[in-house]
Amino acid sequence: MSIIAKIGLVRLINVMTALLAMGVLAISAATLWADRESSWSRATVAADNLLAALEGDITRTIHVYDLSLQGVIEGLRMPGLEAFTPEVQHKLLFDRAAWADYLGVLLVLDEAGDIVYDSQAPTPRQGNFSLRAYFQQHQANPEADLHISAPFHSKFSDAESIALSRRLSHPDGAFAGVVVGTLRLAYFRDAFERLQVGEQDSVELLRTDGALLMRRPYPFKGVIDQSGSVLPMPMPQVGQGSIQRIVVRDGVRRYVSMRRVDHLPLIVAAGLSTQDILAPWRRKTLVMAPITLLLCAGIVSLTFLFQRELSRRKRVEARLEQLAETDSLTGLTNRRYFDRELARAWQAARRSGFPLSLLFVDVDRFKTYNDRYGHQEGDEFLRKLGTSLRQAARRPEDVAARYGGEEFVILLPDTGLAGAQQVAEALRAAVGALAVPHQDSPTGFGTISIGVASARPNREAEPDALLRRADDALYRAKRNGRDRIEVAPLPPGVSSAQT
Ligand code: GH3
Ligand code: MG
Ligand code: MG
Repeated sequence: MSIIAKIGLVRLINVMTALLAMGVLAISAATLWADRESSWSRATVAADNLLAALEGDITRTIHVYDLSLQGVIEGLRMPGLEAFTPEVQHKLLFDRAAWADYLGVLLVLDEAGDIVYDSQAPTPRQGNFSLRAYFQQHQANPEADLHISAPFHSKFSDAESIALSRRLSHPDGAFAGVVVGTLRLAYFRDAFERLQVGEQDSVELLRTDGALLMRRPYPFKGVIDQSGSVLPMPMPQVGQGSIQRIVVRDGVRRYVSMRRVDHLPLIVAAGLSTQDILAPWRRKTLVMAPITLLLCAGIVSLTFLFQRELSRRKRVEARLEQLAETDSLTGLTNRRYFDRELARAWQAARRSGFPLSLLFVDVDRFKTYNDRYGHQEGDEFLRKLGTSLRQAARRPEDVAARYGGEEFVILLPDTGLAGAQQVAEALRAAVGALAVPHQDSPTGFGTISIGVASARPNREAEPDALLRRADDALYRAKRNGRDRIEVAPLPPGVSSAQT
């Protein structure tokens, strides 16, 4: 696998890991979101059911009370009612009334607001109610339907109550008085207590004008006042049907659903604590989110470990490759590496058209050097020579290699014959400067011979030909007395001007 392919693989793995991690995150985020949504829809359904049940209960009860009022009105129309004794009249008027637990008192008031009939006594008690809001409303408005009053303390039943009232009219439609019955708020309180709601949830009953009739939790001892409402909303918005919104009161955030009670001037409202609504979802999220993050962290760290192992192997491989191409004695590159670089430089030179030169170097009388000074000393000499070669091959693209035994090569890309000769001279001088004693040498020191060849690669010639020509030049240097440089003649058909 090439380095490029490895880099491509690493990138691919990174991208796949990122996609995988993002996919896991996206799936669990989507799941949690859907869960949250269904928590909300369950809550809205619960609130709606609660309100529907409450509305049904209240509507039925008030209807029964209204029937009682209408029963009294029917009784009053009975011909000759006044002819009976008060006890009989009392019986006739109020016996049909619903004697429910929460009924306080039923009164019939004349057009002046004075009590004319009293459900609690055959002889009516004294009292004038002409200043009561319901009385004045019925007086002013012949069309007025069943009227439901704001809460007040009823002194007849000594209890928090509301008054339900209907208008009495003369046959010509003129105002004749009012039939009024009180309903103890305890009825609503008990009805609210029966509802299955949480500690933080709130349920309220209001008149359409905003007057609060009852709320749960039940917070007050005296007369109910407006400040008791925790689910306030602009009342005009509550027409028929229901509205919903989030309201924060008493430090509690609630999802509030409000609903107009059918045919009555009443509103029921349920506020469910958003914290309670989302509590199961929060618990699930607290478990799911860390697990998901752990999973993603696991995926990422596995990939990280995998990549670390991959790059470790790459380093080992590169090291092995380097070792395989390095000569251990001199630290120069070896023949294997040189052969490959020569082929490459040859191709490059063919494309660029620049010349390519080669130095073939051989130690003079090395066999005898070994014989006299020993193999160890011979190796030491080769090591020093290696350093000289490395210094001679100065440019980054130059390649100095041990070709084998005491033979070395220097490859000089983009270098003509003149340049190559200069390098060869410098190398020979450097070896001279080493001044390694060699008794069997005419100079008394170790020397080298160098064959130099240069070429402008073209399609016909081969790198081997260059090598052969350099080798031939070296052979001539040996024959001509060693410690010298010989230059290979140009191949046939190539003029010196081209080098
Ligand atoms: P010439 O001037 O003709 O090159 O004479 P020479 O003795 O150098 O020629 P030859 O090629 O016959 O001898 C090469 C010698 O180099 C033979 C071998 O003992 C020695 N040699 C080759 N490789 C090594 C090496 O790694 N270490 C040592 N110490 N000697 C080596
Ligand atoms: Mg040799
Ligand atoms: Mg030799």
